Amino acid sequence: MVERYDIVVIGAGPGGYVSAIKAAKLGKSAAIIENRRAGGTCLNRGCIPTKAMLHAAEVYREALEGEKFGIKVDGASFDYSKICEYRESTIDQLVGGVDALLKGNGVAVYNGTGRLMPDKTVEIESEGGTEIISGENIVIATGSVPSIPPIEGADLEGVVTSDGLFAAEEMPASLVIIGGGVIGTEFAEALSALGCKITIIEALSRPLANMDKDISQNLKMILKKRGVDLHVSAMVNKIEKTETGLRCIFTEKDKEQSVEAEMILCAAGRRANTEGLIGEGLEIAMDRGRIIVNERLETSIPGVYAIGDVIPGIQLAHVAEAEGVFVAEEIAGETPSINLGIVPSCVYTSPEIGCVGMTDAEAKEAGIDVNVGKFLMSANGKSLIAAEERGFIKIVAEAATGKILGAQMMCGRATDMIGEFVTAIANEMTVEDMLRGMRAHPTYNEGIGEALEDIVGGAIHAMPKRKKH
Ligand code: FAD
Ligand code: NAD
Repeated sequence: MVERYDIVVIGAGPGGYVSAIKAAKLGKSAAIIENRRAGGTCLNRGCIPTKAMLHAAEVYREALEGEKFGIKVDGASFDYSKICEYRESTIDQLVGGVDALLKGNGVAVYNGTGRLMPDKTVEIESEGGTEIISGENIVIATGSVPSIPPIEGADLEGVVTSDGLFAAEEMPASLVIIGGGVIGTEFAEALSALGCKITIIEALSRPLANMDKDISQNLKMILKKRGVDLHVSAMVNKIEKTETGLRCIFTEKDKEQSVEAEMILCAAGRRANTEGLIGEGLEIAMDRGRIIVNERLETSIPGVYAIGDVIPGIQLAHVAEAEGVFVAEEIAGETPSINLGIVPSCVYTSPEIGCVGMTDAEAKEAGIDVNVGKFLMSANGKSLIAAEERGFIKIVAEAATGKILGAQMMCGRATDMIGEFVTAIANEMTVEDMLRGMRAHPTYNEGIGEALEDIVGGAIHAMPKRKKH
């Protein structure tokens, strides 16, 4: 007999497992199919391992730079294999937590590879054989895998993706990173702090090109200070093997150049994971390899939904999770509780980067008249105590109403503080609303108050702006 569920989820990443658990909490019978470990890219090969590496690297850098606080650490050193052990044990704890949550909420877990078949059935292939289950609703949450740009030599040994870099037992002494996006900058931050010589080759004119220009500008300076060699508007032509490692040949400003390194990391984006997913005879609408969905996240097949990295849009764990909740609520006939249009983006460099909503340039392009408040964190007490690198908080508000449209920040705890603006935008709050509550002292958070004050009349802890004559 074919086992039947209210909801069958394919893929137990942050999109899939959250969706299955939420559906179970809403009283639906739920099953989830996973062919690797629960937690998906995020827990096993993405967010968590990078942040663990970044944390270890930060601890090491602080030990080396402790003298500025009067702390002298003689002979500070690290053991890369121990850093990897700490990273893996953090992952294990979190994966164990997801397994326990699935079980505790009564979600049926199938270990195997799911394939969507006609009539909302799913074929599961595992070592034990093949079985079929069916769902009143199916949710595709199969995520993404690294995409490797079509560069001659990209298949050479030593050319890796983020998956390969995590698998490496030793840290390379030198690394060329193709792509100055989020993965590129986070690995550059972590490994440069551990002494790896990093070169970034980015095709666009600045790193993190989809973020505010001030962020890219600050990041460029910080990377330079860390000894990272950054090449922008640069195209990789080919990769060659040398006696000691690899040579990456690229063109920058019409000039061919080359750089040698022990390893090359391809961090040039990720593609949807749909390999073998759709059974013979079934058709599902796709755009450039990603599954197309409507505003209810339903695919071209009625009753089949898709969420997370496998659909068009920004590929982030919290987006996948929010879409997982949205779909579960939709299926259970509840009113969706999360606004999927307001997405915070964070980069875990030092200082951290947090963004949400519109930049002033985007507002201008959209023809919206805005006021921009900015506060330099060099005047923030907490930033000075922590001897933070140069940082800022920028707020974009609609001129006519004071409504918050966006915020961009690069400073300590930016990845936590950006949440204040997500809540503000989701609830259509104004600058005045945000100024009503006081902020604790001394905190990075005070910088938000100062940037808001800059809109209404000038930040308290900043010199008045000179009037133009
Ligand atoms: P995934 O997490 O990719 O999960 C999909 C799951 O489906 C996988 O477990 C896979 O094994 C399984 N699967 C696939 N096909 C099948 C099948 N046919 N049958 C059964 N199972 C299947 N995002 C952030 O928000 N913050 C970060 O700090 C961050 N850092 C990142 C760092 C790196 C290095 C990388 C690579 C990504 C990072 N991301 C980050 C992105 C984040 O990991 C993804 O956006 C997120 O994991 C997507 O979730 P998902 O559920 O859609 O897919
Ligand atoms: P990305 O899209 O952020 O950056 C890829 C970069 O590579 C772009 O700047 C692009 O211009 C450049 N590029 C592409 N082809 C190139 C080439 N041939 N030569 C030189 N440069 C080239 O993608 P990513 O950094 O690979 O990250 C993948 C996904 O993972 C992203 O969608 C991101 O949201 C997610 N992620 C998020 C976090 C986070 O939230 N902190 C961290 C890591 C990854």
